[in-house]
Amino acid sequence: MIDSIKLKLITWFLVVFTIIFTSLGFFLYYELKEIVISSIDEHMHSEVTFLAGILASEAEQGQIEEGVAEITRAATGSYSVALSGHYYQVHDDKGNILGRSPSLFLADKSLKVMSEIPYEPIFETNEGPTEDEHRMVSQAFEFSDRILIFQASDSLEESYRILRSFRNIILITLPLIYLICVSGIYCISKFALKTLNVFSKQVGRITARSLSERVDEENIDQELRPVAKSFNTMLSRLEKAFARQREFLSDASHELRTPTSVIKSRCDVTLRRERSAEEYRSAIVTIKDTSARMTAIIERILDASRIESKIFSMKMAEADLSEIISEAVKLIEPSATDRDISLNFTSSGRSVIRCDRERISEVFVNLIENAVKYNRHGGSVEIEVAFDENVAVVTVADTGIGVPGEEKEKIFERFYRVDKSRGIVPGSGLGLSIVKAIVESHLGRIEFDSVFRKGSSFKVYLPVD
Ligand code: ADP
Repeated sequence: MIDSIKLKLITWFLVVFTIIFTSLGFFLYYELKEIVISSIDEHMHSEVTFLAGILASEAEQGQIEEGVAEITRAATGSYSVALSGHYYQVHDDKGNILGRSPSLFLADKSLKVMSEIPYEPIFETNEGPTEDEHRMVSQAFEFSDRILIFQASDSLEESYRILRSFRNIILITLPLIYLICVSGIYCISKFALKTLNVFSKQVGRITARSLSERVDEENIDQELRPVAKSFNTMLSRLEKAFARQREFLSDASHELRTPTSVIKSRCDVTLRRERSAEEYRSAIVTIKDTSARMTAIIERILDASRIESKIFSMKMAEADLSEIISEAVKLIEPSATDRDISLNFTSSGRSVIRCDRERISEVFVNLIENAVKYNRHGGSVEIEVAFDENVAVVTVADTGIGVPGEEKEKIFERFYRVDKSRGIVPGSGLGLSIVKAIVESHLGRIEFDSVFRKGSSFKVYLPVD
């Protein structure tokens, strides 16, 4: 397989031009040959009709032999020169030659006699009196009681000479045009592909370290502009992805650093002197709780990476949605109470759905946790479960900091954190992307609305079956 554009272009043109030029050459040659032969035929035929016309008037007076002798005598020009290449002849239906042009008679030659009577003109190419190719026409005419066959013949030598020189012209000019075209195409493709090289060099200079650089979209060939544009868009996306990953790493390490330093300082303080059994116990409990928090953070990072690589299994079973949510409320209540935030949960009676209990619980723990995390001191969180036909609708609404309009669309993106919340609460920006993935894997959907500085509301729609 040819894997170079330049080579492909040249091969394509070579094949196409070869076909076009060869067919054009053949076509022109045979077309010209046709024209030459048919003009000879036309000339010979008018010659024959002319001779027959002369003889017709003689025949009316019953002097056919006289008329033939007259035709032979009256010949002038090339017909009067022996073997000049232009001949005529008259013979009867029995094959007896009655008259010949002097060009035949003087050389004692004759044309091929027709065995059948040609009532219509017959044109043929045969060997003439000088043994080279001749064109000959034969046609029969009736004169009262007699049928006479008139023949005229012209040598093709002169016509072949013209055709030969025409063929030579074609054989020289067409390859010349062919060569000019091919070298033109070679130069154009070389020139056109040069800009591709420049482009690929520019692209090659951009590495993971210089993702902020962009390919020049203006000073580049028009055809390459869309490629450069797409490449720049891709670079922007990559740059953002790299930046988010960096942010994630710093957020994750920030989240992990706090519990790590809690454990370390608790150990340092406890080991500074001898402690009572109760003091040791309290230190171990703190270390245990903190390491549980760390495990939860690590779990979340692993969850996000599982979602990313789509390794995500679900254990579906019937579960009470209100029960799952009230457990989540209970779990978060202590941290809400710490900040004087009230959690109000209402549920309509029926609430059994088919779901992966653990995963769905994760969804609501996340949403309620966020509603508390991003709330103001003394605020509230309203949680409501309702059923609409075969869909369970859970609303989690808070009176928190809200999300500015332009950032609303992005909060479900992985690693995305609203700038304003960054300084206030530690987090990874992974929770909502995990929530969305879990809800969608249950064939549900999640909607979000928020008024900046007033509060946010999440609506989760889950199919009952
Ligand atoms: P994390 O809370 O760990 O930062 P999430 O994916 O749970 O990550 O949330 C992404 C971002 O969306 C948060 O950083 C926060 O800025 C914003 N956010 C989420 N929930 C709320 C909410 N209830 N009120 C205001 N902002 C929120």
